[in-house]
Amino acid sequence: MAASGSRGSERRLIARVIPLTQTRAITGLYDYLLAPDLVQRGAGVGSLLRVSFARRTLPAVIAEITERSELPPERLVSATEMLDARLPAELVELAVWLAGEYCSTPARALAVLLPPGALRGIRERRVLVASLTAAGVRAAGADGGAALKPPLGRRQREALAALRGGPRRAAEISTPLLRRLEARGLVSLELAATPRPAPRFRVSSTAAVALPMTAEQQSALAEIGVALARERPGEEPLLLHGVTGSGKTEVYLRAAEMVLERGRSVLVLVPEIALTPQALARFSARFGETVAVMHSGMSDGRRHEQWSRLAGGDARICVGARSAVFAPLSDIGLIVVDEEHESSYKHEGDPRYDARTVAARRARVHGALLLSGSATPRPESVFGARRLLMAQRVDGGALPQVEILDMRGLHNPLHPQARLALADCRRAGGKAIILLNRRGWSNFLSCGSCGRVWMCPHCEVALVLHRAGGFMACHHCGHRERVPGHCPDCGSVSLARHGAGTERLEHELTHALVDEHFPVMRLDADAAGIDARARILERFHAASSGVLVGTQMVAKGHDFRDVGLGVVVDADQTLRFPDFRAEERTFALITQLAGRTGRGGAEPGAGGRVLVQTQDPAARAIMLAARHDSETFVRGELRRRKALGYPPFATLVRIVCAAPSAGDALRVGQTLARHAAAAQHPAAVAVLGPAPLFALRGRARCQLVLRSVDREAVIAAARDAVDAVTTTVAGARGAVALSVDVDPQ
Ligand code: ADP
Ligand code: ZN
Ligand code: ZN
Repeated sequence: MAASGSRGSERRLIARVIPLTQTRAITGLYDYLLAPDLVQRGAGVGSLLRVSFARRTLPAVIAEITERSELPPERLVSATEMLDARLPAELVELAVWLAGEYCSTPARALAVLLPPGALRGIRERRVLVASLTAAGVRAAGADGGAALKPPLGRRQREALAALRGGPRRAAEISTPLLRRLEARGLVSLELAATPRPAPRFRVSSTAAVALPMTAEQQSALAEIGVALARERPGEEPLLLHGVTGSGKTEVYLRAAEMVLERGRSVLVLVPEIALTPQALARFSARFGETVAVMHSGMSDGRRHEQWSRLAGGDARICVGARSAVFAPLSDIGLIVVDEEHESSYKHEGDPRYDARTVAARRARVHGALLLSGSATPRPESVFGARRLLMAQRVDGGALPQVEILDMRGLHNPLHPQARLALADCRRAGGKAIILLNRRGWSNFLSCGSCGRVWMCPHCEVALVLHRAGGFMACHHCGHRERVPGHCPDCGSVSLARHGAGTERLEHELTHALVDEHFPVMRLDADAAGIDARARILERFHAASSGVLVGTQMVAKGHDFRDVGLGVVVDADQTLRFPDFRAEERTFALITQLAGRTGRGGAEPGAGGRVLVQTQDPAARAIMLAARHDSETFVRGELRRRKALGYPPFATLVRIVCAAPSAGDALRVGQTLARHAAAAQHPAAVAVLGPAPLFALRGRARCQLVLRSVDREAVIAAARDAVDAVTTTVAGARGAVALSVDVDPQ
């Protein structure tokens, strides 16, 4: 109730809101008078309103509450409508920070961190649940209701019997039938929230038991304990650099336990839940109901339910993929970033945030310990965190022996030695994984007579042949067309397919190895949907022997017990990208595949064998990966990056302009470059470009890279340049799209 004696005009409250519009030019806060009933209902920072804005009605998030407005009273409009969802104030502040850090707008940032379905007002799914009343229990117990007048029918008696086991969803029995029993006072029917079925994940029976720790796990944990006891654990992140199979997950679990015991909450980020369900399964098995899960494969309804459990404090651990970094946990004590080298932590929409950077920020705000882990950590993380090393596999087994196979002059996708090794594997009834980071049948199709290459009509890239589906596809925009029978330019029917993708490899292996006891399975993005991929992994896991062929997905953190052979086809493919992270990626890919091999045994030779096929056998990343020498690799990378002025010794910002014509794109690129170079900032900002990029989705593109040792300066320069272009080239604005990428991958 309002304090007595104060006058109405002084008690009025003003909400300063962020209207949720995608328009780039709108970045400020807007004032609305809060209607008294909204004040009564507790409107505050993070509440969602519906306001009239620029002659439309828009949802808006309250960023501040104040008693004073700059606006003259007659121009102050009332906000009268409030939605159910409410964002914690910390997340509103985080959105504003996100907008600044990634050159976006607060509204766009809010769009990525609002609770799922908030604007559509998704509520918990409610269903009709039937249970027995006291009279119902008596009737069902004594004689099945035979004594009742009028007597119950057979189906009615069966329904009562079914409910003796506990409440059931009405629809599972028969709602009309239950309504009749309700009318007789035997059954009560109520709308109740049902937990949606949890995703199916295999949980090994031992998962719930805390494992006795190895010496290395113990010492890592001791250091984590010390870090947690510090006054400001948020200031000193830790990096768990442990070889594949060293038991990093167990360390996360114990660390989480310590934090929960202190009454604080835990955020666990994993790269892709569907591909690595065992991490989630272990957390659920250990901590049960207190775990909430968030990932993009879930329905909005289920995500909303998990969100509410976290916001309400019912769940105190959140395990999730990238966007879970915005989980509404309060008082976070620990943030784990598992497999921190994974590029899926970077979001490709606007804002192009990096969940690892956001995690570091939230850790500082909450005073939480940031614990990242990987067998192949990024040089950035090695540079910026204190490292805890785990050099041994928990089972005492050796890391696999890695052999480099020189592919120069060979045309078959598999080296003769790889074929022999596969044949051995089949004879021994073993399992193998083959990694080829290219899906489809062949890379491109060309005409044998005139040399025509089939290109995407919308992008400047070649179409990839998918034989089973009988189509060619653009892997950038999704364009598809039928496989041609002849060349439209010269009429020739001699069409050549170049290179091999996973589809062709699968086909060749199936033919070469025909054997019902040695199935060939394929895992890549063509396996539609998250469920399909999880099923393929399940099948491989359950099979006693066989081959799994696929793109980098096969090298994720799977914990297969019995894979004796790993093959990397075309290991230098990732090296050929003109990108300063090419080496890091190649090293990680080989090491991670080796990490799936030879787990689960200390017998001699149990470490397994990995064959790395390459056109470039002397490449540093490949040689060091073969020696399992991530220490030398990371040190060399850091030295090289320092010399070249790359991250972590500088911050890069990439701006891409897309326009109807190459000329338009370049003109805007030049304007951006001029503004960025002229920007007044304390530190020097180098401007590289604009340089043309290949066209995408029918739009010409060019890119500009800004670089500086001063992170704030380079971000500010990019923001100023984009703002200037957005306001000055108004004519071209609708046609020109700009995207800003801070810390591009
Ligand atoms: P990493 O993530 O380091 O590659 P994982 O955490 O997947 O390794 O652990 C590999 C396997 O070792 C898992 O099956 C795990 O249950 C098991 N494991 C972990 N710690 C121990 C331990 N102390 N004793 C026995 N087994 C363990
Ligand atoms: Zn031709
Ligand atoms: Zn295309």
